[in-house]
Amino acid sequence: KNLGITRIKFDGERKEYAKDTSSSSIVKDPSKCIMCRRCETMCNDVQTCGILSGLDRGFDAIVGPAFNLPMKDTSCTYCGQCVAVCPTAALTEVNATDKVWSAIEDKDKYVVAQIAPAIRVALGEEFGMAPGTIVTGKIATAMKRMGFDGVFDTDFAADLTIMEEASELIHRLENNGTLPMLTSCCPAWVKFIEHQFPELLDIPSSCKSPHIMFGAIAKTYYAEKIGVDPDKIVVVSVMPCIAKKAEAERPELTKDEANNVDLVVTTREFATMIKEAGMDFPNLPDGEFDKLMGESTGASVIFGTTGGVIEAALRTAYEWATGETLEKVDFKQLRGLDGIREASVDLKGKELKIGIAHGLGNARRLLEDIRDGKSHYHAIEIMACPGGCVGGGGQPYHHGDASIVEA
Ligand code: SF4
Repeated sequence: KNLGITRIKFDGERKEYAKDTSSSSIVKDPSKCIMCRRCETMCNDVQTCGILSGLDRGFDAIVGPAFNLPMKDTSCTYCGQCVAVCPTAALTEVNATDKVWSAIEDKDKYVVAQIAPAIRVALGEEFGMAPGTIVTGKIATAMKRMGFDGVFDTDFAADLTIMEEASELIHRLENNGTLPMLTSCCPAWVKFIEHQFPELLDIPSSCKSPHIMFGAIAKTYYAEKIGVDPDKIVVVSVMPCIAKKAEAERPELTKDEANNVDLVVTTREFATMIKEAGMDFPNLPDGEFDKLMGESTGASVIFGTTGGVIEAALRTAYEWATGETLEKVDFKQLRGLDGIREASVDLKGKELKIGIAHGLGNARRLLEDIRDGKSHYHAIEIMACPGGCVGGGGQPYHHGDASIVEA
């Protein structure tokens, strides 16, 4: 300061680029890009979408197609792994916090919130709490103090997803349906298969993702129970996921042209809202979710980790088919393929083979096998983010602090 350094203007060759706000999930601000290429590494090497590297167009690095084409016109899956590693906010999520505050303040609206399983183990990090600290009760209290009219756990709808996927799996097994059946609750993975393997679109399950199921129920069953006009209900999802912002706006996930879910905020955005409200989050008392749709089983909680969805659906399908409880599902890592695991279960004398992949690079391998007729699985779970939703693009930033990840 004393040397006047703050007054020296950098006269480099930097150009001003326009911000790209075309997508519902990610904002690109190329003027902030320092060409570190972390985003490109995530996109190209880990996720293999290749959007940021311009594999299919011959562009180079981040100023390539992602900045030449509007984001909404690319085949970006919006997994947000680029956002999670960008050190300069050249890539950020579309911020929905102001819209949520406006809805809460609108006396004509009835605003209900839901939280995904992966939020409760990560949110505390934003307030200096140890990674992995479970803060479910504090979230319920914070939401009520913010002014949400209903406070719910997406776990309730995750249980519905389990029932639907288990039914569909049994139906396909018993009726020579298309196999393997792939889970469909990760919107980035769904967008990936749409762009990259359109010939395989009959294999994902037909189930909506849990938070969208929740939205549909909130505006029908719940609205009727509490006697509120569904048009006045605003459903807010608090998610570890950036892709769910775009998912909520997909035209097929609306009912009578109203979105099932109106607004999605990430774990980071929700932490910002708690700070804006001036709450001492670590010292909040534990509260409870509302009852009507606030109860769930332990199975739904494991949705947040890789393998959780398919294991929960498999347990349910097994119990329905055999009348017995499936004691243990022993997933084994495939040799030489980090991020792909498999298990087999005996279902009434028939061996059922289950696969799990996290990270879209691994998903691509499994899909290539299916396309080439080499897959031996009956059901596969795919999650776009490394580690599943706990490693989602909207979770607290780590920015290379390995001690946090290892803790
Ligand atoms: Fe979203 Fe989870 Fe899929 Fe990541 S793995 S894109 S957080 S649903």
